[in-house]
Formats: sequence, C-alpha cells, structure tokens
Amino acid sequence: MEEKLQQLKERLATIADLLRAGAVLGWDQQTYMPPGGVQARADQISTLQRLAHEYQASEEMGQLLDDLKPYEAQLDYDSDEASLIRFTRREYERETRVPGDLVAETAKTVALATQVWAKARKENDFASFEPLLSRVFELQIRWAECFAPYDNIYDPLIDLYEPGMTYEKVSAVFSGLKPELVALVAALSANQDAVDDRPIHQHWAQDSQLAFGREIAAALGYDFERGRLDLVPHPFTTAFSPDDVRITTRVDENHLASSTMGTIHESGHAMYDQGVSPALYRTGLDTGTSFAIHESQSRLYENIIGRSREFWRCFYPRFQKAVGKGLSKVDMETFYRALNISQPSLIRVEADEVTYGLHIILRFELENDVVNGRVKVTDLPKEWNARMEAYLGITPPNDADGVLQDVHWSFGYVGYFPTYLLGTVFSVQLWQQMLKDHPDIPAQVEAGKFETVLGWLREKIHRHGRKFTMPELAERVVGGPLDWQPYIAYLRAKYGEIYGL
Ligand code: ZN
Repeated sequence: MEEKLQQLKERLATIADLLRAGAVLGWDQQTYMPPGGVQARADQISTLQRLAHEYQASEEMGQLLDDLKPYEAQLDYDSDEASLIRFTRREYERETRVPGDLVAETAKTVALATQVWAKARKENDFASFEPLLSRVFELQIRWAECFAPYDNIYDPLIDLYEPGMTYEKVSAVFSGLKPELVALVAALSANQDAVDDRPIHQHWAQDSQLAFGREIAAALGYDFERGRLDLVPHPFTTAFSPDDVRITTRVDENHLASSTMGTIHESGHAMYDQGVSPALYRTGLDTGTSFAIHESQSRLYENIIGRSREFWRCFYPRFQKAVGKGLSKVDMETFYRALNISQPSLIRVEADEVTYGLHIILRFELENDVVNGRVKVTDLPKEWNARMEAYLGITPPNDADGVLQDVHWSFGYVGYFPTYLLGTVFSVQLWQQMLKDHPDIPAQVEAGKFETVLGWLREKIHRHGRKFTMPELAERVVGGPLDWQPYIAYLRAKYGEIYGL
C-alpha cells in the first residue's frame, strides 16, 4: 500500500507542477506580458491545463484510488494521507463525470462570451450578450446534471467552488442575514450626514502609495522573501508554491485608501498560501481549501483589522506623514469614519462592508432562479434592477452598472458569488474565536504586533491547506457551522456607533 500511495503522490506532483507552471504564465499575462503575447499564452496555458486534466482523469488514477480504498479506511480521517486520498478522489470524480464534448463546448462558449460581455458592458447593450449568456447558463445546467442526484440543481455548481456547501446551507445563512442587512442599510441611509468621506478623496502619488502598502503588508506578516507586489488593473493573488506567493494591487491617485486596503486584502489571501504545511508540498493540497475560506482570511485582515480604530491608532501617524499636507489637519477619528463610510452603491467591488452582502444575496437568488427555470435570462436586467431597489434603495441607470457589471457569468462561474459573503460571515466567527483565545489581540494590533493573529490563523487554518472543507474547518475551529448572527451583530455594533444609531 505504501507503494501505491507513493505512486499516487508522484502523479499528484506532476499535476501540481503543470498547474503551477500555468499559474506563472497567468501571472505574467496579467502583469508584464506585452499585448502581442495573448494568443501564444492562451495556447500554452491550455496545453498545460489539458495535460493536468489527462493525468487527473486517467484510468491509472482511477485504479490507484480504487486500490487505496482499504488503506484509506484504516487511516485517521484528519491525517495527511487520508486527506490526500479523499481530496484526490473528489477531484477525480469531478473530472471524470463530465463528458469531454461538454467541457470543450463550455471552453469555446466562455471564450467568446467574455469578449462579447466586455463589448456589451462598454456599450451598455445587454441584448447583444443575452444569447451567449443564455447558452452559458444552459451549459452550466448540463454540467450540473452530470452530478445527479441532488436536492437542487444549483448544488453541484455551489459545491464546485465551496465543497460541502449546498443551496440549503447557503440559504440558511443568507435568508437570516438579508432582512437584517436591508434594515441596517436603510437606517444608515437615513443618517448619511453622519459621515463625511471627503478627507480620503485626495491626491496621493502612486509610488508613495505602493511603498506604504508594502510597509503594511510586511508588518502584517506577508513574507516578501517568498512573494512580491506588482501593479495590475484587476488585483489578485496567485501562488506558485507556498514559498512564492504573489500579490497585486491597483492605485487610484485620487483616493488615499483604496490601494492600501486592497493590498491588505490580497496579503490576507497570500499569507494563507504562505502558511500551508511544507508536508503538503506538491500534493495539490498545498493551497487554500476553498474560495470562502480564502475570502475569510482577506476580509479578516482588510475589514476587521484594517478598518479598525486600533489598527489606525498604530499606523495613522505614519500614514499622515506619508500622505503629506492633505492629512495634516485631519485627525485620526475623522479619517477612521471616512474610511468606514457606508452608502448604497451600484458596483459590487466598490461596495462597503454593510452593503456588500446584499450585492451577493441578489446574485445568489438570481442564479438559483435561472438554473431552476424560474427566471429567464432575458428578464435578468429587470429582475436585477427590481432587487437593487428593494434591497439597497437604488436603481441602476443602465445595465452596464447593473446586470453587466461582473465578468463571472461570462466565464461560466455560476455558483461562485456566494463564497464572497460566506467567507465574510466566517471571518467574524474566526475573529471572535481568536479573541476568546487571546483577549489582548486588540491591544497587540494597536501596538503594531501581528504575530499572535498570524500564528493563530496558521495553526487553525493555514497549515491544513486543502485537507478539510469549509464545513469541516468551521466545526474544528469554531465548534459549529457557519452562523450569520455574529456577523450582523458585528456590523450593527460598528456602524451603529459610527452613525450614531
Ligand atoms: Zn478576495
């Protein structure tokens, strides 16, 4: 059996190398590649992905997994070996259930859909995108059907991004949260004059912004010996191994905080990848376990720590000095309030902590309605706008800033959106558990000390890599399932105080 396990590990190492090499090419494409490189790069990445898929879905892989079944049954569920076999089997089953022609047709359709979407968004022309979007949804439905039986056809799509989650489990969180968020947004909207965000809308040179972002990322514990920061139009984090995890940011020279907060967010993702146990290297388990757990790390650093008074009590004097005279007469409290302004807005990626969740719930509901045949793709703009009005009290003036704003659906990423909010909800549960274990953490943050925070996350989350799903991690770390109540209590306390409710 040891020999079979060794053979499995060798195959997984090959797959890991192929995928990580593809990630290097992808990073280069989004940072430094000249425009002329596009076609060759697409060919190279798709070759690497095809080879990885062939290894993953091969008969030899299926045989090895079968042979290892009795061995796996004797192992401790939490052991590296059992987790490795369990994870690989899940991936194998996913890779082999879907017929090759469906995979190929989806790849072709989304390549075209992303182009058409970009043009449609620019020209505010939903009608030109609608036939392709309908096709994408049809293909996603066919993909999901490969995983029957299920309670809801949306389940396999959710499970792809968040293993172990289903419509029902997500709905249990979102349906509790929704009325609370709608009420809080309305209360804050009625009190808009309480916060003035003009102090953060000032000019600050790019180089100085980047230098400050680097200083903060390093202070939090992002290891620049095993990473680097580059400029891109759409920020992301990517890992080539736990020892080379890259972050990116964009700079708005007329906003004092967006690049810094974005860098903190990406550092949260990156520290997760940097913290995976070396024992999992080249097994496929050596990265973050799911999109929601990843987002719980980035949101914890960005929002709970990075938008707190304690954090800015420590960094504001340096920040003030770095920005220069624009902030010389702005006190920390004024800046803190400006940084945490909450107001309904059209674009999800620019939304604040309070309104953000409703942007996600809207997409979750629409996806569920479309894949279940209750809403037609042609009616999405109308449905979108009606929900924006009902939840946030604003109606998009056009589809470009409404239903066309996100790239996800054109990529075929149906089921992805919920992970953003699930992770955000979980970040508060993690934070509360961390404070129970270390009540002095707020004082440490105020002193600019982040070792305890990172050490706790390393121990509870990072080192496990992909061994456990989100529901399994939640059980192990906070002793129960995802719970929306601590999250809404956190928002009410923080924003109630800022807005004087
Ligand atoms: Zn993120």
